Amino acid sequence: MERSIQSMKICIIGAGMGGLASALALAKAGFQNIEVYEIASNLGFVGAGIQLAPNLVRILDRLGVWKDIEREAVVLNETSVRQGESDKELAHVDLVYIKETYGYPHMVGHRASLAGSLYNGCKREKSIKFFFSTTADTINSFSPKPSFTAIPRSGDAPYVVEADVILAADGVKSNTRVEMLRKLGVTAQVEDTGQAAYRIMLTREQMQHDPELIELLDGDKVIRWIAEKRHIIAYPISSKNIYNLSTAQPDVNFAAAPSATYTTKASKSTMLSVYSDFCPKVRRMLDLVPEGEVCEWKLRVHSPLPTWVSGSVALVGDACHPTLPHLAQGAAQAIEDAAVLGVVLSRIPDTSPGNINKALRIYEKARKQRAETLVELAAASGRAMHLGEGRAREERDKQFAALKAGKGPVPDKWADADVQREIYGFDCMEAAAELFKETFAKL
Ligand SMILES: Cc1cc2nc3c(=O)[nH]c(=O)nc-3n(C[C@H](O)[C@H](O)[C@H](O)COP(=O)(O)OP(=O)(O)OC[C@H]3O[C@@H](n4cnc5c(N)ncnc54)[C@H](O)[C@@H]3O)c2cc1C
Repeated sequence: MERSIQSMKICIIGAGMGGLASALALAKAGFQNIEVYEIASNLGFVGAGIQLAPNLVRILDRLGVWKDIEREAVVLNETSVRQGESDKELAHVDLVYIKETYGYPHMVGHRASLAGSLYNGCKREKSIKFFFSTTADTINSFSPKPSFTAIPRSGDAPYVVEADVILAADGVKSNTRVEMLRKLGVTAQVEDTGQAAYRIMLTREQMQHDPELIELLDGDKVIRWIAEKRHIIAYPISSKNIYNLSTAQPDVNFAAAPSATYTTKASKSTMLSVYSDFCPKVRRMLDLVPEGEVCEWKLRVHSPLPTWVSGSVALVGDACHPTLPHLAQGAAQAIEDAAVLGVVLSRIPDTSPGNINKALRIYEKARKQRAETLVELAAASGRAMHLGEGRAREERDKQFAALKAGKGPVPDKWADADVQREIYGFDCMEAAAELFKETFAKL
């Protein structure tokens, strides 16, 4: 008897934003046998803010998990790009139009709230089973029956997991990507961006004695302070009880740090010295971070991959398109991947490996160019913001000045209306359904 496509076993490696969203999107698309394998013993998300752009929120809403996140998310109505040293405003962009244009306002939230809601959404689906503390080790086969070896941390014996589809959402250090490229005989490297980020969250209690800082927390503004080779982006999250700062600076502190973790405990005095020429308001905020609680992330990307798919295995999220945070789209793009996978896999006529591969190739076609364009745009935006003295910076500042007079593009691409149209105005699920209809029979 022919199996229904809903009975296919779909295994997901990694319970980050990409893995959780994939599991939920597939369950919502009707799949009944979804397994998620995660090395960590729980979600363990870093304390940090995340921007909830309309293209991301549209998907969360369709997956039925937006309402919980929205409750404590903060609506941003304006963005201000300022000189780090003087605090002088270079550009001011109104964000109110975003809701009217894209159906959702531009919001920001806590990563734990996004991850927690996705996870709770998954737990409500009987079809999703989690295997925490379990490493998906070697991929034994990519097709026709893909499989990998699972290694439980408990010390129990490793076992082989066979599936119809394997989705590897195993992050920027993806082992599946390495194995897929090895199989294809291709080398493509993780690229060192030379940049690192401090992620800082200040509570209302910590800020309450400083009226200027409380004004930031009570505002509805995202602020980007920029300077040579560095910037800081900041906004209130968690119902305005936390002020979130995320920085970018040269990663000089990583010389001695273990590269395997991509994070290091940094010293407060180093952080203060990196931003010692920034305005007093910024320095007062950095000074509020308790000694011993300064954590720094190394920012990495990857050269574009020749493919995201081999047989019945596909890469998802940072595994295939790690993105600098300067456009605030990394998680959003991982979640777009997930939504598109739900669309294409649910449309195949049967469970044959050939049709699974065709659907995954349509996923790649729907997603690769868009994600890689945004990877490059985020890098370009970083380069523009981090310019030092010279002609290029003069040109950039002319653009900022023109913008004040109401004309021209925003060098900080995140705040540019044309870029926002391209990112927020695109319905990836609709486009994928259309692409499937047009191309499946021809593949
Ligand atoms: C400073 C900073 C700020 C950012 N701000 C934003 C923002 O505002 N908006 C936005 O959209 N994005 C933002 N991003 C990007 C975003 O965080 C990432 O793009 C996103 O989290 C990637 O999700 P993922 O699921 O692909 O990978 P990950 O979150 O890395 O998840 C991978 C998971 O796979 C697990 N895993 C790995 N290997 C295995 C294995 N072999 N077996 C089992 N499990 C495995 C890992 O433990 C992990 O849980 C930011 C990033 C940084 C660094």
